[in-house]
Amino acid sequence: MATTSVVSENLLAKYEPVIGLEVHVQLLTASKIFCSCSTRFGDPPNTNVCPVCLGLPGALPVLNRKAVEFAVLAAMALQCRINEVSIFARKNYFYPDLPKGYQISQYDKPLAEFGFIDIDANESKTNGDRKKIGITRLHLEEDAGKSLHEGFADAADKTAIDLNRTGVPLAEIVSEPDMRSAEEAYEYLTRLKEIILYTGVSDCNMEEGSLRCDANISVRPRGQKELGTKTEVKNVNSFRFIRQALEYEIERHIGIIEGGGRITQETRLYNAHEGKTYGMRSKEQAHDYRYFPEPDLLPLVVDEKWQAAIRASLPELPEARRQRMMKEYGITAGDAHTLTLTRAMADQFEGAAGSAKNPKRVANLVQSELLGRLKAQGLELGQSPISMAGVTASADLVESGAISGKMLKDLYDLCFERNQDFPAVYEAEGRPEQSRDTSALEKLADELIAANPKQVEQYRAGKKTMLGFFVGQVMKASKGQANPQLVNEVLTKKLEG
Ligand SMILES: [Zn+2]
Repeated sequence: MATTSVVSENLLAKYEPVIGLEVHVQLLTASKIFCSCSTRFGDPPNTNVCPVCLGLPGALPVLNRKAVEFAVLAAMALQCRINEVSIFARKNYFYPDLPKGYQISQYDKPLAEFGFIDIDANESKTNGDRKKIGITRLHLEEDAGKSLHEGFADAADKTAIDLNRTGVPLAEIVSEPDMRSAEEAYEYLTRLKEIILYTGVSDCNMEEGSLRCDANISVRPRGQKELGTKTEVKNVNSFRFIRQALEYEIERHIGIIEGGGRITQETRLYNAHEGKTYGMRSKEQAHDYRYFPEPDLLPLVVDEKWQAAIRASLPELPEARRQRMMKEYGITAGDAHTLTLTRAMADQFEGAAGSAKNPKRVANLVQSELLGRLKAQGLELGQSPISMAGVTASADLVESGAISGKMLKDLYDLCFERNQDFPAVYEAEGRPEQSRDTSALEKLADELIAANPKQVEQYRAGKKTMLGFFVGQVMKASKGQANPQLVNEVLTKKLEG
């Protein structure tokens, strides 16, 4: 974090932060939650609207079945209990981007409750201790419109409203206040996003507002049972900034309490440039939303049969997949973590690794040779010139000793230069092979043995690890082109003789 700490480590250790998160996820339906208007992002302002989402008198909402299925699927992936009957409620408030004067949400009878996410409680992200973060509820609601303060002619003294987003379906996911550090909050959000992406119900694109997060934070002296006064940090647009905002708030709270002051319960905004939060409105002035059941909609019933049909479409979730892949392919937790970053990547890896001579080598190549090159060129895995099948083909060639590691690196470089997959480049280069001609190797080995009598003596006296020294020398002399297996064979023969 850019700002310097005003609170000493000792003071930080004296207090325990308590953090709960509210995440809004936009569901990837083609049409809105209560009308048939398109949900497409980026259309000209106020073109995807109708009497229903504008809240004109006499217009009646009709619930989008797909939105319900997506929300239920997300809730199942988050281990929630689905309530067979849930109730839509009106949340009344006045705001320029809310033409109806109320938002249709769910209040005391939400769609789903009592879920959890397991997070890595330590920071190494591999084989860490797991910690359960409770999910209080997941409910369905409609989005409001968007106030625009820039990007049009008289933006200096006017605000414009775009109502395309009005009525877009959202799942609101409320956590228990179970997180005890900004890092845990970051970890929770990362896992949550990963799970939602695996289910495919949202693209979780933060820039387009498909995933939004509000954080509630308080601190209390360690050992104290009752909670401190909380503040809410709203509308932060990246996980990294949320972590920074929480770190800032933790120190701010401790600073005030230690100075004999009191925390004001309020909503605050984070300024990422300054690395600080600012008070926006105090909670004393907060709205009383006067919730009541939405009279235009029947209770939502998701019976057992429907639940079972939705559950059948639940994919294998990232954590379970990592565990299985580690077992199935003999790869490390770190490998599994990288290979399951997205569902597409995991699918591609498994599609290719199944036929590989050594899946572990495929995993290693993705980690060591592919991801670095992609990152250097600012490419996503989906844009890689080398497909997973290409990685597997190259791994098999190294495995069989046909090409060396050094040759593979050179061929990968060519793939990226020419934007071609591995098999094409390998063919174009005339199927290069590392030398199996032992005469050159034998000559090298003889020279080395003659030049290093002491090492030879040690080897023959029983210090077999000396072989490594000779192998290294030969590999160096051949500029990495020699076949290590062959070098081993030739040297062992000579040294033993
Ligand atoms: Zn509409």
